[in-house]
Amino acid sequence: MHTQNKPYRSVKIKQVLSALEQFAPLPLQESWDNAGLQMGLTEAEVSGVLLCLDVTEAIIDEALRKGCNLVVSHHPLLFRGLKQISDATQVQRTVMKALKNDIAVVSMHTNMDNARGGVNWKIAERIGLNEVRFFAHKNVDGIEGGNGVIGRLPAPMAADDFVLLLKRQFGVECLMCNELLRRPVSRVAICGGAGDFLVDDALREGADAFITGEMHYHQYFGYEQQIQLCVMGHYQSEQFTVEIFRDIIGGQCPEVRTEIAETNTNPILYF
Ligand SMILES: [Zn+2]
Repeated sequence: MHTQNKPYRSVKIKQVLSALEQFAPLPLQESWDNAGLQMGLTEAEVSGVLLCLDVTEAIIDEALRKGCNLVVSHHPLLFRGLKQISDATQVQRTVMKALKNDIAVVSMHTNMDNARGGVNWKIAERIGLNEVRFFAHKNVDGIEGGNGVIGRLPAPMAADDFVLLLKRQFGVECLMCNELLRRPVSRVAICGGAGDFLVDDALREGADAFITGEMHYHQYFGYEQQIQLCVMGHYQSEQFTVEIFRDIIGGQCPEVRTEIAETNTNPILYF
C-alpha cells in the first residue's frame, strides 16, 4: 500500500500520456514538430516521473537515481530521424541509455506552447497578468489554441521597472531588450522559446511589451518606442513549464510520484 487511505492503484505510462495529451492535444503542435511519445513501452507501470525541459544523458541518470521510469520533457528528444543508434551524438547516447534502462520518454512541445493553460499562460501567471487571452489564434479540428498570449499588468509600469520585474521573476542574469519605452507598459504579449515570428502580431494587438526567449539580431531593428522587446533566454522563459506537467499529472493520476529535475539543462552559460 502506498497510502493509508486509498488502495494502491497502479498507473500505466499510457494513462499519464493520455492525461498530458488531453490537456495539450497533439493536433495543436506545429507541422514540423515531433511531440508525443518519443520512446518506451506505454503498458508498463509508472514508477515515477521526472519532469524537465530537455532530455540529456544527465537527465536519464537523474531519472535512474530517483527511480523514475518515465521522463516528461518540453523539447522532444527525437526531432530528426535517427539513422544510427550508437555513441556518436548526444541524442544517440541518450536514447541508448534510456533504452538500456527501460525508461520511456514523452515530450509535450508546441502542443503545450499552443494550448490553453500551456507555456505562455504559465509565463503570464508568473508576471501576474490579468485578462489573459490568446493571440495568433489556431483552431485545429475544433481545438482552440494560439501561438501567443496577451494580458494586462495589474497597474501600468515604467519600462525599466518592468524589465527588473522579469529579471527577478525568472532568475535572469542578463535580459536583452531594445531602447527603453518612454511610456508605461500595460499590455504584455508573450511567446516563450523562440518567438520572434510574433512581434508584428503583438504590435497589431496593441501590446506595449513583447516577451520571448530568443530573437535574431536583425529582428530587434525598427521597433524603437513602438514595443518593448524583452528577450530573457530560451531556457529561462520556459523553465516553469515543468510545473504545468506536475499539475496535470497530479490532478489526473494523483497516485503517481512526480519529481521536478534538479539538473539544469540550459546549455548556455553567462559570464
Ligand atoms: Zn523551447
